[in-house]
Order: sequence, then C-alpha cells, then structure tokens
Amino acid sequence: MDKNNCLFCKIISGDIPSEFLFQDDVLVVFKDINPIAPVHLLIVPRKHIRSINDLAQDDGTVISHMIMTAKHMAEEISVNQSGYRLFFNVENGGGQEVFHLHLHLIGGWE
Ligand code: 5GP
Ligand code: ZN
Repeated sequence: MDKNNCLFCKIISGDIPSEFLFQDDVLVVFKDINPIAPVHLLIVPRKHIRSINDLAQDDGTVISHMIMTAKHMAEEISVNQSGYRLFFNVENGGGQEVFHLHLHLIGGWE
C-alpha cells in the first residue's frame, strides 16, 4: 500500500476525522479502534514509512522520538507505574495489518 491509499495517512491529514491525544511536527497519537487492553494507543509518525524494514538511517530520530513520546504518554495516562508494553508488528508474519509504521502502547491492567 502506498501513501496515497494509506489509512493512517488519511487519519494524519484529517481526511478521516480522529481525535489526537497528542501531536507535534513529527508524529500523532490516537486510540486504537479495536483495543486489546484497557489502554491501547498508537504512536504514528507523520512520514509514511511502511514498516520497521523500511527505516532509513535518517529515520533514527523518528524512532527515538516515538519511544520518548510513548514514555510521556504512559505518564500522562498514568500507566507508567503499573507498567505497559510497547511493540511494533512487522509485515504480515509479524501481525502487521496497517502498513504505515506505528508503535503500540498497551497497558492499564489491574
Ligand atoms: P498492526 O496490526 O498493523 O500492528 O496494527 C494496526 C492497528 O490499527 C490495529 O490494532 C487496529 O485495531 C488499528 N486500526 C485499524 N484501523 C483503524 C482506524 O480506522 N482507526 C484507529 N484508531 N485504529 C485502527
Ligand atoms: Zn501512510
């Protein structure tokens, strides 16, 4: 799927209206539509990158910013003390369904 036909590009551009919990020049954060935990956020770079496989050397700053944002969001929604999981699904065998890079943040269990 290219960026002209990409669900997350449409969410980022506003073509599909969505609520962002956080946004800046590099990324946006929104709730997963089909949460697998009490809290399930997606941290999504504005730049269309298909998956971890497609990262260029220059994209290292994007990845570090995504992880730092995950840390801040975990504090914001108060799951940092109880704990949470961060993960990337990579390509079909890794469970990726939307081919625009995103970091999952799940948590909020008792
Ligand atoms: P993947 O399996 O590609 O790592 O994760 C894609 C995630 O996007 C899934 O957890 C799925 O529930 C979520 N998702 C799919 N379509 C939409 C949508 O239209 N809006 C939102 N907020 N999440 C979506
Ligand atoms: Zn995209």
